[in-house]
Amino acid sequence: MRVTDITSLTVYDGAHGIGGNKIYLEEKGKGVFLDFGKNFGKYGLFYEEFLKNRDTRGIHDLMYLDLLPRLNIYRPDLIPSDLSISSFPSLPVSAVLLSHAHMDHCGNIGTLRRDIPLVASPESIVIMKGMQDCGVTSLDTDNAYFSPRQPSDEMGLYLSSVAGMSYQGRDFCSTEEPSSALAVFLSRKPGQDGKRAKKLEPGRCCCLQESGLCLPFEVSAHPVDHSIPGAAAYILRGETTVAYTGDFRLHGKNESSSREFIRQAREASVLITEGTRAGPTEEEKTSERSVCQACRECVEDSAGLVIADFSPRNFERLESFQDIARKAGRRLVAMAKDVYMLHCLEKVCGSCSADEIGIYSEITDRSRRKWEQEVVASHYADRYVDHAAIRDSPQDYILCFSFFDMKHLLDIKPEGGTYIYSACEAFNEEMEIDFHRLWQWLRRFGISSSGFFLDGKGELHFERPYHASGHASGEDIARAIEQIDPDVIVPVHTESFGWFAESFDNVLAVEEGKRYQI
Ligand SMILES: [Zn+2]
Repeated sequence: MRVTDITSLTVYDGAHGIGGNKIYLEEKGKGVFLDFGKNFGKYGLFYEEFLKNRDTRGIHDLMYLDLLPRLNIYRPDLIPSDLSISSFPSLPVSAVLLSHAHMDHCGNIGTLRRDIPLVASPESIVIMKGMQDCGVTSLDTDNAYFSPRQPSDEMGLYLSSVAGMSYQGRDFCSTEEPSSALAVFLSRKPGQDGKRAKKLEPGRCCCLQESGLCLPFEVSAHPVDHSIPGAAAYILRGETTVAYTGDFRLHGKNESSSREFIRQAREASVLITEGTRAGPTEEEKTSERSVCQACRECVEDSAGLVIADFSPRNFERLESFQDIARKAGRRLVAMAKDVYMLHCLEKVCGSCSADEIGIYSEITDRSRRKWEQEVVASHYADRYVDHAAIRDSPQDYILCFSFFDMKHLLDIKPEGGTYIYSACEAFNEEMEIDFHRLWQWLRRFGISSSGFFLDGKGELHFERPYHASGHASGEDIARAIEQIDPDVIVPVHTESFGWFAESFDNVLAVEEGKRYQI
């Protein structure tokens, strides 16, 4: 066997922390990345809310701060004159295989050269584009399309969008036969018919199996259960068979899909596994079902307005609240951008449903939100619920708000109510500060809180029955590894490498950026 025939693994990012996965596998002179996510931990060392990366300097700042690997694989239009990447290794990247559309797995894809296609599930593709359609565009979200840049100062340092040039869509290989609705969805951006609006020039969209994509491995995608629709694990068969879990769990409604992946992964000799909750954790106590039950009881015990706070793309949780609302005789009211996403997922993938959901009518200039005007308002004009309606009969509603929506309470002016916090615990100082602010908002309106509280000393506590993690418990990870029984275990997406090393004797301690033959 020639050396180049041997499969090699290089974890460029995501080995020693939670998220930012950029895992490169190469064989016979060709390679693929497993995810290309944003490493929030590393970004947070330098940046915060009011000190953000300057997109106008392309990838200059990210390179300089080592927030992107020093490789020659990035969009040329993001390279200002004071940065040269030509001396960095030019990896032969045939594709990025995306596990799911959480930013810590996809948030740096927008920096990659446009000719690198993205393999992803139809749901992940829809979520990435949907986020772009109704969000502020930035390098972090430019995953489905981007606006090409060019230097606009004499020195070639300041990069701005090229006027009059279309948005460039990325090439996608869908892990399932793409519907014609997916191609239509990818071919336009809401608002693009306006006279001076930029058009979207779509990339190709084909099926992974029929793509003709020249990959060094035979790749199969396997749905797994996680806190976002469309999560996938991958098995790559080459000289070595490698399984990659992405993020997964075994206590959600789709746990059987994770179990099926584990069964299929038995053929793998190398297992790259997430370890967010790796460690001597207790047996899983909350499941998506038990969370639903706890939230239902909480809603039934509430007389006034109920506010449910869960992660915006956790549509499984949203479905649970749809069900709870129906049974409690209340109406679930979500923000327009959530309904936009639900509508797109329903139309393109047939998953999720915007049925019966009310839309919170924000006090805003809707004409500036083309995605809302063209899609949400045109399909669901009769679903809008305004602040006055909620103020008049708060007992009829469950509002899907998060901390960032608290400002709308100033229009609703509720008198009392219940806030159910149904998302993950604070894991850094900034999040803790936000919870102190959230507490003040709730106190200001006399709203009682379930899921978190501040004690008499002002210390923050979380009550767990209202949230089930998107990640497998330590026990479940250990069981999954035992069942797959790989020759080599590569932990990523974890702060608990020590637990892996103590629990198993075939754990590879990867150094980021170092190439291993596997
Ligand atoms: Zn995730």
